Amino acid sequence: MQAFLERYWFAVALSIGAVIWVWRTRLRIRASARTRPRSRPSSGSVGPVPFRGAEFAAKVARVQRFHWSWIGAMIAFGLVCVSAFVVPGLLHATRIGVASVAGAGAFLSWLVGAIREAPLLRQLGLYCPQCGAALVEASEDQVPLQLVVKETGQCRCGAWLLDPADLPSGQGPDDRYLSRSRQGPRPPADR
Ligand SMILES: [Zn+2]
Repeated sequence: MQAFLERYWFAVALSIGAVIWVWRTRLRIRASARTRPRSRPSSGSVGPVPFRGAEFAAKVARVQRFHWSWIGAMIAFGLVCVSAFVVPGLLHATRIGVASVAGAGAFLSWLVGAIREAPLLRQLGLYCPQCGAALVEASEDQVPLQLVVKETGQCRCGAWLLDPADLPSGQGPDDRYLSRSRQGPRPPADR
């Protein structure tokens, strides 16, 4: 077991990291769903916006499917790697062989996912036209930007990306999501 950990720690660490990330993301998404209704500007008053609500949701869903298959592949390879050493009755050489292939698979899936993420976002146009932030993110310490945009219509920099009419019922601009420099008194259109 010790030799296994020494050799394949990266595959195990990747899987554990992926599981923790999934869990923390779910917690944050649930926390952001418990907010009071907020008022919003009238439709069309925020100038031209790059996305319609449904179009943005569809594009985000496509990136999230990509993220899930990316994370799923890493978890699957990690599990194979671990089970190669815990399943009884295998030859030592078989364990090493399976674990090596699965460990390499976990690393390769991480690499392929990391390489393909940016081109996919570019292809879908999922970058903020004002600050250049990627609009689908796997942030560790804050509500993911795709959720901020979906619920407030704004990027953290304050740029409007969705028309207020496309926001879900009870949702509107929210100062808490704007980056510090943009926080301050709400514009009159907001009341
Ligand atoms: Zn922005």
